[in-house]
Amino acid sequence: MSKSKDKRIKKLNRKRIWPSIIGLFIISVLMTACVTAVLLLYMLDLVDQKLYDSYKLSYNIADYMMSENLDNSSYKEINQYLEIDNSVFAVNVLDENNNTIWSNNEYTPNIDETLIYINSTDVFQDGFEIIIENDEGSLFVKNGESVEITDEFNDNLMKQLALIDMKKVFKERNIPIIVSSIWHIIHHGDYTFLILNDITVFNDDLYMVFITFILMIVMMSVFMIYYISSLVSVARSQHKISKVLYTDMVTGGYNWLYFTKKGDKLLRRNRGRLNFAMINLRMEKYRSFCTCFGVKEGEELMEKFYHTLKKELKKKELMAHHDEADFGLLVSFANQEDLLQRLDSIEQSLCQIMPNIKMYFRFGLCIADNNDHEVDGLYNNATTALDLLPEDSDEKIASYDIEMKKQQLWERRVEDDMDKALVTEQFKLYLQPKYSTKEEKLAGAEALVRWIHPVEGFIPPNKFIPIFENNGFILQLDDYMIEQVAKQQAKWMEEKRELFPISVNVSRAHFTRENLAEHICGIVDKYNVPHKYIELELTESAFFDDKYVLIDTVKQLREYGFIVSMDDFGAGYSSLNSLKELSIDVLKIDADFFRGVESVERGMLIVSEVIDLAKKLDMKIVAEGIESREQVDFLTAQECDLIQGYYFAKPMSIGEFEEKYN
Ligand code: C2E
Ligand code: CA
Ligand code: CA
Repeated sequence: MSKSKDKRIKKLNRKRIWPSIIGLFIISVLMTACVTAVLLLYMLDLVDQKLYDSYKLSYNIADYMMSENLDNSSYKEINQYLEIDNSVFAVNVLDENNNTIWSNNEYTPNIDETLIYINSTDVFQDGFEIIIENDEGSLFVKNGESVEITDEFNDNLMKQLALIDMKKVFKERNIPIIVSSIWHIIHHGDYTFLILNDITVFNDDLYMVFITFILMIVMMSVFMIYYISSLVSVARSQHKISKVLYTDMVTGGYNWLYFTKKGDKLLRRNRGRLNFAMINLRMEKYRSFCTCFGVKEGEELMEKFYHTLKKELKKKELMAHHDEADFGLLVSFANQEDLLQRLDSIEQSLCQIMPNIKMYFRFGLCIADNNDHEVDGLYNNATTALDLLPEDSDEKIASYDIEMKKQQLWERRVEDDMDKALVTEQFKLYLQPKYSTKEEKLAGAEALVRWIHPVEGFIPPNKFIPIFENNGFILQLDDYMIEQVAKQQAKWMEEKRELFPISVNVSRAHFTRENLAEHICGIVDKYNVPHKYIELELTESAFFDDKYVLIDTVKQLREYGFIVSMDDFGAGYSSLNSLKELSIDVLKIDADFFRGVESVERGMLIVSEVIDLAKKLDMKIVAEGIESREQVDFLTAQECDLIQGYYFAKPMSIGEFEEKYN
């Protein structure tokens, strides 16, 4: 599978949602932790502030009381003051022996039992210091701006705050939910002041913090629910897409994409452990079936095939519909016999689907080796093998073999190199002389191409012409050959040599071109060569493509003055009809007539009749592939005009040709 195709499929494929959900969960937890930490810090800062305010108040009270020289009148004022500020509700003054000498309140705490108290405070120039202690020692220190808050501090402070249950101490007071009451012990002169302050740190603030926290949790949850539900809906639609992506519309089963994807994996995982074969199973004459019964019925049949084939599969085997009536099956096998039996059983079960109708199946086979892990490639090979089976062959199974592989590699090589070869003139013009039967002298020649490859060396045309005919490059090559011939004739003309017609092969592919005759004329006229020295060899097969185009083109070419010959007459699907409808100048009788031991006499008989017929139709005759004196004598006796064959000369380079016929 190509990389871009793979990418496109991955895009369409289902995305895994679990990583997103887990990621989201982690992000939420982290965010909650961050917000909680910020809130905690905020609360701690509030505690500090309140502690400091409380201390300041207590200190001011103590200071005030000292400045007023402690007496009862001043205490009265203090009482009034205390009533104004509700947070201070107990002031005790102790002498140096810790005996209470004044109190505005009946409660006098036992300092030793007080859970938290601030026992020392000092106001510094650029800050202040509060030490909170319990009976076990110092808990934390705030100095100016810098506060070091450790986990231990958090824990302890929280524990301590939790322990402060002032309700126990001051049962009659209506104390808010979370409130700390703190005794400040202020040593002033000979006295110690015990001032009890309420610090309602968490009262209103707590609600705000709590609501913020709840809001955050709610928002987070809404966001998470929304996100997860959208993920789920994305996952669902992706699931639907994958279903469509992997479903074959004809059979309703898995499609080719699924097959190749899974197949590649299967091959990779079982490399070296299982033998796999790729089968291209094809129902022959599917189109005829559709013509007789309808396309819908044809597709229904394919659906039935799919289900039947599926039942034939073992574990670790795959199959899918490819196109028309072709199926790909990736099967494992123990040995060749086993594989052939499988094919047999598959064929039988398919035939049973419609027992009243005769169905024919063929199998293209490609055995995977350890380096094969691409199902597409294997299937392509199996199809190549299947396509190479001649239509009239009785063989049902075609195996892809090493020769086919070599041929495929060769084709690729040729296609890679051909453009460069044309530009760098690796294609060389060779000439095979044609001799007249009367004088047995040079009377013409056929231009034949040779490829002198920089690495492969000399390559004969049958190794590349069929490839060029398939890929269309033959158009360029033939134009090149016509030009080479025209150029050569022009050169000889200039050198005042005797000129003979040189024939050039024109592939049937040219007949798809509009104005072929004009096109050829254009090439030849660049060199001012009289058209009668250029002969164009057309194959009879072009007649079957579009006979009207051929007839028209031949007519035009002859009007331009070119000689037109029919090549390979008698080879393949020869039809005398073409002779009836085509007016041509030369008939080239195929070498096949003169080969073969048993049929040689019949061949000769036909040749003499064909020559006779051609004469009557006012055509010249060239016999090709003549290798022996007997053949030459026979053809001379039959009044054949020209002979081309190894008997007289093989195709040769221009240099050799010039040397031989100077
Ligand atoms: P073709 O046009 O039938 O060319 C005649 C072939 O028969 C040539 O093979 C020639 O070498 C061979 N031949 C000639 N005399 C004898 C003989 O006495 N005995 C035997 N056994 N063979 C003989 P070649 O050159 O290998 O060409 C093969 C085919 O390749 C040609 O068959 C033609 O179809 C194609 N071809 C060659 N050059 C070109 C070209 O420039 N353009 C196109 N379109 N086809 C070309
Ligand atoms: Ca020819
Ligand atoms: Ca020929």
